[in-house]
Amino acid sequence: MSDTERNVHWERMLPAEYRAAVAALPVVFLPLGTVEWHGEHNALGLDSLKAHALCVEAARRAGGGVVHPPVYGGMGGLDKPATVVLEGELAWENYLLRPLLEQMCYEFHRQGFRAIVIVTGHYGHNQQIVVREVGARMTERLQIPVLGTPEYWLAHDEGYLGDHAGIGETSLLWHLHPDLVEIERIREDPEYGATPDIERGSSPELGRRYAECIISRLATIARAMPGWDDAKREAFSRAEHALVRAQVKAWRTVGPWAAWGELIQQGLTRYGEFLASEQFDEIERMASRLAPTREQAKQ
Ligand SMILES: [Zn+2]
Repeated sequence: MSDTERNVHWERMLPAEYRAAVAALPVVFLPLGTVEWHGEHNALGLDSLKAHALCVEAARRAGGGVVHPPVYGGMGGLDKPATVVLEGELAWENYLLRPLLEQMCYEFHRQGFRAIVIVTGHYGHNQQIVVREVGARMTERLQIPVLGTPEYWLAHDEGYLGDHAGIGETSLLWHLHPDLVEIERIREDPEYGATPDIERGSSPELGRRYAECIISRLATIARAMPGWDDAKREAFSRAEHALVRAQVKAWRTVGPWAAWGELIQQGLTRYGEFLASEQFDEIERMASRLAPTREQAKQ
């Protein structure tokens, strides 16, 4: 069986396949998402379907590792039909997502995995913060690298800055699951179809470009993570903590999406490149530019 069709799905593996995948690369991928309204043109499980498909391809590309089934449910979600919101978008505390993810990380570690890659396809505000925070925290608790990131952060420099059922998400799903997008239905959607922009701008080709960037970086980092020494793992954890601190500080001093706004305004789009090339000091430097100082925030 070639790597392009290798079974990497934890739930579909026979024990011998599982043992071989872990022996080849002791990394587990955990895709996250939710069921949420994504316009008349997209399947409702877009976030998890997207994250799962990207992890599957990344594991195949990496030549080993196991992909856990996607976990549905998270923080935030539109006030729309067919949407499950477990915790508020801007809830200050969370009582479900973090304990669940931390327990899963603990279990993966107990099973012998030497690195964990958590990919959230759902971009709720605090969902993004909590996922990265879990990664940084569990890196220290377990003393193995744990990455927690939304997938679009790996394609910032390809031009994908994250959206909801917009050109980016529609294109990704269209490429990854062509049968789950019916683009012409957007014309019946008063919100997403209000202008022709999404219909005109979305395509499976664009989705393929974003996906390729995300998959290759996920595969690169997954291959490297189990081999990191203490110094590298600690530099990684410092960088991820710095991003979380910046996002939280800007949230508290300016507004919930302020740090994300700075990313775009200052053109700080190289996270994926820095991560894949293990330039963690560059990520830390980037993070230092995302949160305003107290003086700037007062202006
Ligand atoms: Zn989405």
